[in-house]
Amino acid sequence: MQLVWFRKDLRLNDNPALYQACLDGPCRAVYFVTPKQWQAHDIAPIQIDLMERALNHLSADLGSLGIQFHIIEVDDFNAIPERLLAFCQSLNITGVYANSEVEINEIERDIKVDKALKSSGLALRLYQADCLIDPGQVQTQQGEMFKVFTPFKNRCLKILREEINLQPYPAPQAQNSTVNNPLLKLPLAKKSSVGWPASEAQTYHLLQQFIDFHIEDYDQQRDFPALPATSQLGPSLALGIISVKQVVFYLLQAFPRLLDSSDGGPVIWLNELLWREFYRHIMVLNPALGRGASYKISANNIIWSNDEDDFKAWCDGQTGYPLVDAAMLQLKQTGWMHNRLRMVCASFLSKHLLIDWRWGERYFKQHLIDGDFASNNGGWQWAASTGCDAQPYFRIFNPTLQSTKFDPDGEFIRNYLHDRDKLSGKALHQPIRPIVDHQFARQRALLAFSVLKVKG
Ligand SMILES: Cc1cc2nc3c(=O)[nH]c(=O)nc-3n(C[C@H](O)[C@H](O)[C@H](O)COP(=O)(O)OP(=O)(O)OC[C@H]3O[C@@H](n4cnc5c(N)ncnc54)[C@H](O)[C@@H]3O)c2cc1C
Repeated sequence: MQLVWFRKDLRLNDNPALYQACLDGPCRAVYFVTPKQWQAHDIAPIQIDLMERALNHLSADLGSLGIQFHIIEVDDFNAIPERLLAFCQSLNITGVYANSEVEINEIERDIKVDKALKSSGLALRLYQADCLIDPGQVQTQQGEMFKVFTPFKNRCLKILREEINLQPYPAPQAQNSTVNNPLLKLPLAKKSSVGWPASEAQTYHLLQQFIDFHIEDYDQQRDFPALPATSQLGPSLALGIISVKQVVFYLLQAFPRLLDSSDGGPVIWLNELLWREFYRHIMVLNPALGRGASYKISANNIIWSNDEDDFKAWCDGQTGYPLVDAAMLQLKQTGWMHNRLRMVCASFLSKHLLIDWRWGERYFKQHLIDGDFASNNGGWQWAASTGCDAQPYFRIFNPTLQSTKFDPDGEFIRNYLHDRDKLSGKALHQPIRPIVDHQFARQRALLAFSVLKVKG
């Protein structure tokens, strides 16, 4: 009997661990519910809800293939090695299969599990299904990880053209007659994720709709938060309801010459998927990032103000800057924030308010439905200029200009700030009682961040 251990890969398709386990013999599946770990990882209630829905789809889908799905609840990752070993022994499991994860706690958990299993003659067989290319395989000519995105991207494109088979693994064959798998309720606070796809089928539909109707305009429209111009696949990718390989495979089916093209919506969209890839590879190769380190060592010399009242005002959408405030209210109310606004709000917190980017990173993770450690950390360190190939430290977004540029008619702002309903033109974008003056904040940030002039 083989065992597949599901983690952030809640899908039947393009799931190498599941596929291989089923090839190797009769198979069961397991999922560990780890409430304390999730709390420590700041998983947002809306993401917990999506996870619950996705697990219930997975449970039913596995049942239809005749694969029994076991749910085991423990406090945190520390308890897993012993529980998993006991579980395997009770069912005479001969092999445990899983897909690897990129975060440090998850990697360490797997090392401990492997050790425990090996002590009883079993082993954890790990497959890479979270990235397009195995982390560590995209190298400079000197055999190192790229420190700049564009050459990394170009190398990825070359690998995708010449070396990688993107054909997704099919779902495994049914093993038996249908089994009735349990319905699951996760024991943590939840916020409704209704409206977001939770099954594989709903997720393909979303991808298909995006490719059919929006992708061609992605390069022109993706920066405007009032437009439905981005895929919204982030939550599905974060939980592995779809894999990035599947996404790129279907993208290339729709645009077979994409890897040789240099502009247009599909090219720019693929670029964004490669940013996801970039941050994952950096994370695996720099484990300290998973423990809160800045990528740039010189960033340790930034003297933050870390004013609690300013932080609260930012969280509550009370900075006085309309675009920042509307975006923060969007996050709080819906669990979602548009990418341009994530950049503006992250820049505002770290540069205008001189608050440590880690405070904002944590707050985002506590609220985002697509909260993902590597992309969130990458995005924050990009905006705070402390990351790998980050925004230069002297580039400080002017929140009022960002507002006039990317929400010119205030369509987005008015969704969240009803006191702006009657304002138009320039007045709509002007801050009202701002908690910090832009010019003052800019000068203060330039000084504080000038420690980043030092290389390293
Ligand atoms: C401060 C900050 C925090 C962020 N936190 C997260 C997070 O917790 N989880 C997360 O998935 N993304 C995060 N991002 C990246 C980006 O904002 C989201 O991936 C994007 O907004 C999701 O919308 P979408 O699915 O419609 O993306 P699309 O624009 O349709 O892009 C497709 C996919 O590409 C990936 N992607 C797009 N942009 C980026 C990017 N800049 N970096 C990494 N991957 C990207 C995502 O997986 C996304 O779903 C963050 C960015 C910033 C600046």
